[in-house]
Amino acid sequence: MRQQPRTLATTGSTSVVLDAIRAAGTISRVGIASVTGLTGATVSNVVRKLLDADLVIEIGRAESTGGKPRVLLELNPTARYAVGVHLDHGAITYAVTNLAGAPVARLARPGPGHADPTEVVDRMAKEIDMLVESIGIARERILGLGLVSPGPLSSRAGMHLTPPFMRSWEDFPLDTRLAEVSGLPVLLENDATAAAIGEYWAGGTQREENFAALYLGTGLGAGIVINGTAYRGASGNAGEIGHTSANIDGPVCWCGARGCFEALAGPAAVVAEAALDPRIVQAAGLDALGEGSPITQRFAAIARASRMGDAGARQLLERSARYVGVAAQSVANMLDVRMLVLTGSSFAAASHIYVPAIRETLASSFFARDNHAVEVRLSQSAETAPAIGAAALVLQAQFVPERSTSLAANVRKSGVVSELSTLSP
Ligand SMILES: [Zn+2]
Repeated sequence: MRQQPRTLATTGSTSVVLDAIRAAGTISRVGIASVTGLTGATVSNVVRKLLDADLVIEIGRAESTGGKPRVLLELNPTARYAVGVHLDHGAITYAVTNLAGAPVARLARPGPGHADPTEVVDRMAKEIDMLVESIGIARERILGLGLVSPGPLSSRAGMHLTPPFMRSWEDFPLDTRLAEVSGLPVLLENDATAAAIGEYWAGGTQREENFAALYLGTGLGAGIVINGTAYRGASGNAGEIGHTSANIDGPVCWCGARGCFEALAGPAAVVAEAALDPRIVQAAGLDALGEGSPITQRFAAIARASRMGDAGARQLLERSARYVGVAAQSVANMLDVRMLVLTGSSFAAASHIYVPAIRETLASSFFARDNHAVEVRLSQSAETAPAIGAAALVLQAQFVPERSTSLAANVRKSGVVSELSTLSP
């Protein structure tokens, strides 16, 4: 293990300067001092260390307005990388991003199915190695690994309570086990929250710093970003709109509550309804997929049937979309946001139904609609946003550690900031 940061001040100012350079794109030392409020001497000192560590590069001089021309600085995007992994029942998706948060590689592999968690984690470590080797990045340039999974997370042992289709993962020490076999520090995050961070970093929210990402994959959830930072709640489980009740007399959900949005209208509920109607089963080709196929895959088949004009499939989705619209309205009312991003593979598959339905609900029923509209947009990277967000999380832990989760300490321990602090006098 590398040495711990010596002083908080060093860690803080290094992160602040790095983040100022990242946010600006191109900036001079004087510019950094003016946006951060740090003294010129501190900025010079930190920048010298960043240059020595190759994290920042000098790219030329600005036009002078009298006096010495200012040297311009930029982040060196290839100096470090982060890996993001999205573990879902249907697929395991990997992304590698550079220091600027831009994806440089992606890989989608089959989901865990019913395999033993230990075997799956071993496979994940191998697939990460493969991906990193394929793009020729030296291992020591990887800051860490962001790992995203569904279900309530506990800092003790990965997923504490799991959706029915991932029961064997309950209380499996997911993050510690993956850290052991991959040799990389691991940050664990909820899928919807990671998707929201992914949208923010990938530029899908166009600098809107207050928004929610509604996530529809296997389940339904929301990721909340406030002032550019994910809101996690007390234990990393904020935003579980899918497990708020739309009917107090409704069916019991796997989470133990009654009449949850997810139980009434999530992809699994849509798939179960479709299975009861032989016409929809035929139109969507559900028999060919089989009972054991991932929910997201069967849901996508129903969405395809709807796009092809099947009225039964369309009706099922429209009913689900009315519920999801109300869930979206609840999120918007609670947070008073100007933007909702729809992300996750199931929104991508059935956007023709969900996007207009959610827009309509918000236009007619959002509480503060006389003050401002809520823009509803479909993510440009709905399939990979959680994996990109997971990698971005590692970067965010680096740039703005004071805003990140306590788990971020795992990454900082082996990351740039402590690396630099060991260089300091
Ligand atoms: Zn529930």
